[in-house]
Amino acid sequence: MQKDKLKSLVTQMCKDLLEHIEQEKDPTKEQVINYLQDAIDAIISIDESSLDSIKHTKEIFINKYKEIAKKGLSSYKNTNARFENLRKMQVDVLQDPHINLESLTDKFSDIQNHMSDEVNKANNIISQLTKQVKTLEETSKVDPLTKAFNRRALNDYLNTICSKQHLKYELHLLMIDIDDFKKINDRYGHLAGDKILIFITNILKKTLRDGDKTFRYGGEEFIIILNRINKEQCVQIASRILKLISENKLIYKGETINVTISMGTTKLKNTDTPDTLISRADKALYKAKENGKNQMCTELENGI
Ligand code: GH3
Ligand code: MG
Ligand code: MG
Repeated sequence: MQKDKLKSLVTQMCKDLLEHIEQEKDPTKEQVINYLQDAIDAIISIDESSLDSIKHTKEIFINKYKEIAKKGLSSYKNTNARFENLRKMQVDVLQDPHINLESLTDKFSDIQNHMSDEVNKANNIISQLTKQVKTLEETSKVDPLTKAFNRRALNDYLNTICSKQHLKYELHLLMIDIDDFKKINDRYGHLAGDKILIFITNILKKTLRDGDKTFRYGGEEFIIILNRINKEQCVQIASRILKLISENKLIYKGETINVTISMGTTKLKNTDTPDTLISRADKALYKAKENGKNQMCTELENGI
């Protein structure tokens, strides 16, 4: 091969390679190595014996490829530097050099999936609990504020005793209504009123025997059922309750609150329904209010 021909051949090759490498925006290390390998292959394939000056040809190659390699490697270095910056940012932010962006994204989507699973589970539990609470409320027999039995419990209880033809023992019903409760609420606030409802329930529970039952009939109205007592004993118990409530004072936020109750009592008859029984006690209570409150009134044999 003639020296001139070889020279133009390698010059052309160099040009092609240079163009090729420059077309790549950010050549990778691998690409640069490939280009250098191409150049080495080209040099190796030249028949040395046919060269007039192999030394000169080699110099041309070496210089050109040094140039190519320099360009390629510098852009590789840039790319590498960008990765290094990213890595540093990652380290700074996460304090964990082992986490890479890809695994971070995976972790985030894992967390998201896990969270939406947990939210679904929680929603299911909440709806189950809501159903349970509703069922409990519907079947509960206890007043949530005072913890006395509620109206539902009273209805069940009265239905049971009124359905019995002949009760072998005396049963008395006491209807209680707090005196001037509206005024107490207005003066001390609704919360103080709630405390009084609890305070009175506790006095009633402490005073009564285990078999006696205390029900919250309505807002500030209670019903007590006393079993196995006669009328005199009923009057004694009612008087004791009246005394205890009027003598005990509730201290609320530094203020002493005086509270009294009125009471109407009646004895269960064989012919009674829950309504007739309550209605008689209600009439007796009305009488106690009319007579000046803070007292009890007992139903008379032939009505009031
Ligand atoms: P009387 O002596 O004639 O019974 O008068 P009163 O003020 O007690 O009766 P009234 O029926 O006029 O008022 C009852 C008050 O009870 C009105 C209502 O706001 C209050 N009340 C009902 N339920 C509750 C409750 O759960 N908490 C509180 N704080 N107040 C209640
Ligand atoms: Mg009332
Ligand atoms: Mg009242």
